[in-house]
Amino acid sequence: MKKYVYEIAGCTACGDCVEECRFKAIEMTDKGAVIDQAKCRSCGMCYEACAHSAVHRKETQGSS
Ligand code: SF4
Ligand code: SF4
Repeated sequence: MKKYVYEIAGCTACGDCVEECRFKAIEMTDKGAVIDQAKCRSCGMCYEACAHSAVHRKETQGSS
């Protein structure tokens, strides 16, 4: 199974992803939403939720 790292860039601070993240890994800051990678479980809900294409995902290598 592919694994992804999620990052936010170009955020309009709408707050949708903060609501969607069931692991409470996204925090709203002065500069928009930020993902706490230590809490993120790579579920992809924020990626699906962002209507502004501000959540970006990168495929990661390695096994788990
Ligand atoms: S991928 Fe899932 S756990 Fe990670 S920040 Fe997005 S919604 Fe939260
Ligand atoms: S859903 Fe997208 S635009 Fe809205 S706060 Fe999250 S990253 Fe920013």
